[in-house]
Amino acid sequence: MRHFIAVLTVLALCRMILPLQAQQRGPIIDMHMHAGPVDSLQRVVALMDESHIVKAFLSSSLENVYRWTAAAPGRFIPSPMFPVYGIEGFPDIDSLRAEYLAGRLHGMGEITSQYLGIPPNAPSLEPYFALAEELDLPVLIHTAGMGAPRPTFRLSAGHPLLLEEVLVRHPRLRIYLENAGYPFLPEMLALMYQYPQVYADLSTMTWLVPRQAFHDYLSALVRAGYGKRLMFGSDAGSSRPHVIPRAVEAIESASFLTDEQKRDIFYNNAARFLRLSEEEIARHHGR
Ligand SMILES: [Zn+2]
Repeated sequence: MRHFIAVLTVLALCRMILPLQAQQRGPIIDMHMHAGPVDSLQRVVALMDESHIVKAFLSSSLENVYRWTAAAPGRFIPSPMFPVYGIEGFPDIDSLRAEYLAGRLHGMGEITSQYLGIPPNAPSLEPYFALAEELDLPVLIHTAGMGAPRPTFRLSAGHPLLLEEVLVRHPRLRIYLENAGYPFLPEMLALMYQYPQVYADLSTMTWLVPRQAFHDYLSALVRAGYGKRLMFGSDAGSSRPHVIPRAVEAIESASFLTDEQKRDIFYNNAARFLRLSEEEIARHHGR
């Protein structure tokens, strides 16, 4: 019995210590999250709070994104995901523009055209990149060598260099690539060197691929000098909120990173990319 009480005491202490660690960790911005039914929101927000995630780039169907954004004001950057696999095609460009102008949306993507085998340089995507450049929106695109198993998903439509023409045509585009294009390392090194506007997230790979493979990839990107353009993401959503702490831990356990480099990945790079105001940054740091 005494042993049992001791275990309970340790567990209680752990619960007290965890939020403290999150406080010491500093705020986190999650650049890759997906909305779902509103009944799952409470669990997601609780896990965000535990990990000190103050803000998240949220994409899904507009219906789900608006529901979550309304239910948790200030926590999310609402953004349309398209073409949503098996549900919707490309959104009507005029309706989309109207949503941005009304201030209801603040980002674009996740653009999931790779799931339909459509590469980023396809003409069908061109109007959306033009709109994002014109309205100065942060854009998330799934251009990588991994994805969920879907019959129309094509690896060949996710080669990072397929973005090159888009970047040339839209030099002011603020774009970031899911999973830093994993595992296309040489292509990502080339793309990030030549196009300094390109950022990348470290999302699904934090919990989906073997930890060593993730750390090797991350370490190569940092050694190549891109530590200021990598941003934390969980790719969590209503169906897998539990990956949030695992994603955080995957960065924290990267012993080859300095504390400053971790802070860049967790917060500073995203704050710069998103152009957060001084006031908001101060608020996130409890100042
Ligand atoms: Zn995603």
